[in-house]
Amino acid sequence: MIVEQIWTGNDWRNFNYLIACRDTGEALAVDPLDYRKCLDTARDKGWNITQVVNTHEHHDHIGGNTELIKATGAKLLAHQNARNSIPGIDVGLKPGDIVKVGKTVELEAMDTPGHTMCHVCLLSHTEEPSLFSGDTLFNAGAGNCHGGGHPEFLYQTFVDQLDRLPDNTWIYPGHDYIVNNLEFTLDREPDNEQARGLLAQVSDQNPDRALVTNLALEKAVNTFFRLRSPTVIRALRERFPNLADNPDPKTVFIKLRELRNSW
Ligand SMILES: [Zn+2]
Ligand SMILES: [Zn+2]
Repeated sequence: MIVEQIWTGNDWRNFNYLIACRDTGEALAVDPLDYRKCLDTARDKGWNITQVVNTHEHHDHIGGNTELIKATGAKLLAHQNARNSIPGIDVGLKPGDIVKVGKTVELEAMDTPGHTMCHVCLLSHTEEPSLFSGDTLFNAGAGNCHGGGHPEFLYQTFVDQLDRLPDNTWIYPGHDYIVNNLEFTLDREPDNEQARGLLAQVSDQNPDRALVTNLALEKAVNTFFRLRSPTVIRALRERFPNLADNPDPKTVFIKLRELRNSW
């Protein structure tokens, strides 16, 4: 499996992806908003884009579909319940469905509600798995819920699905928000040395060659995985004085999400 992360350079800081089979050169495009860059990259690599997956229905993820499909004839795949919100779906994805790319690539569809209620992530069946996480999981952060989602569902997606993936899972998110997200982490946990070191490392990185994190690193620097940290809870209680001494992880997650909305 070959993964090409495509930095759009737009105001929303989207990442698009091409996932290709080494043997056949067939490729799948994830959320190809910048369809020109995706088409140019595929041409330069000698790949043939045969499928598009939309992680969810927001315009900055589906806005390149029409032009890319016109140019390639690719099939469009998205969450099975997104037929009313994403025009032209050819294949509706259910949890556990396997999307094949060429002969060598298998991607498993995960039903990951929270950012929106029709959101899929793709998990590669490779020795080191890769997760294409859309707007559910960002580097050092989590998606917001004010475009049709619910924080309770996002919490369940984190604990029931993301938290259980192998530590060596590579994370490929839908946006480059790593700097802001690490600053949010450090505002809660000023003593998180790993987050501080990572912020120094990425603060002036070239997004065309962005650092790819794995889940082990996320669990160390992403506040939304650190729901039992006494430091996180203490900092949160300063902002929400009514919070119990030992709040349950779900309450911590929802309060963190609420705080991040206005931070
Ligand atoms: Zn979104
Ligand atoms: Zn987005």
